[in-house]
Amino acid sequence: MKTIQLIEFLSTSSDLSDVLSDEEVIAFAPNLGLETVSADTVLRKEGEPDCSLLIVVSGEVRLSHDGNEITKLHPGQIFGEGVFSEDGTSFEQATCTVDSVVARLALKNFEKFLQTDAKAAQKLKEHYTNLHHQRLHEVEGLSFRDQRKFLALVAHNEMKPSLMEFAKSHQDKLRRFHLIATGTTGIKLYQETGLMLSKKVASGPLGGDQAIGKMISESSILGMIFFRDPLSAHPHHADIEALGRLCDVYQVPFATNPGGAAAILNHLLVDHPEEAVIPNRVLEHYRNQQKKVVSAP
Ligand code: PGA
Repeated sequence: MKTIQLIEFLSTSSDLSDVLSDEEVIAFAPNLGLETVSADTVLRKEGEPDCSLLIVVSGEVRLSHDGNEITKLHPGQIFGEGVFSEDGTSFEQATCTVDSVVARLALKNFEKFLQTDAKAAQKLKEHYTNLHHQRLHEVEGLSFRDQRKFLALVAHNEMKPSLMEFAKSHQDKLRRFHLIATGTTGIKLYQETGLMLSKKVASGPLGGDQAIGKMISESSILGMIFFRDPLSAHPHHADIEALGRLCDVYQVPFATNPGGAAAILNHLLVDHPEEAVIPNRVLEHYRNQQKKVVSAP
């Protein structure tokens, strides 16, 4: 398909025509990559970080969750709307039911679109970010409260290679957990090891460490593996400290290097820590103190 035909298709027969004007579609189309895929190809898996926006050009794509079909997408329909969101992981698996053609906007090409037509690019981003949040609320509303417990993985930039090596050599164990990671760590983990995340939060310096801290306070984190770089200064030093402190408050196992991380995996998989042996006396004491504050006249 030539770019001119793609432009015609996008402006007349796709959901994009509700978002971008004809002129904006002309600027947008060259940033798309066309892929011809055969039936049964999985375009993205459940839990995979959303790294591209996809448009069905021909054929059919089935979206499913836990093996159950949610919907079938036809030419002109778009998915992967979480691509622009910090917490964008895919809710569903997308599989081609027949030989199909899809157009893909990869994040790196979005940057190019931003340079050629900043206004249109912002409009596109805003539209799909809103759509993603709307869907997120729907999904959360349906499940009422997310009861899952996660193993958190974070690494500072200098330590990312070390975490990737650790993840590769401990894949079988890591796959047994719902994994959560900060933004860049999560994408690297998926790219380099194929490990699927169940949840992704913002990049650490942008609040991701605090987001994991919030989950610790809700008892949703089983263990924290955080390969901290001990030899560099970090703009979000306070957040890193806070995360370690919360692990102590809630007695969440916290490892900052490969040996500690391996110990956490064995602890969680072999020791069954749900049968807590050592009571959390500091927390109990604090809660009792606060009850007194509340009941004081
Ligand atoms: P990142 O954040 O995974 O987005 O790099 C990690 C951190 O610095 O806390």
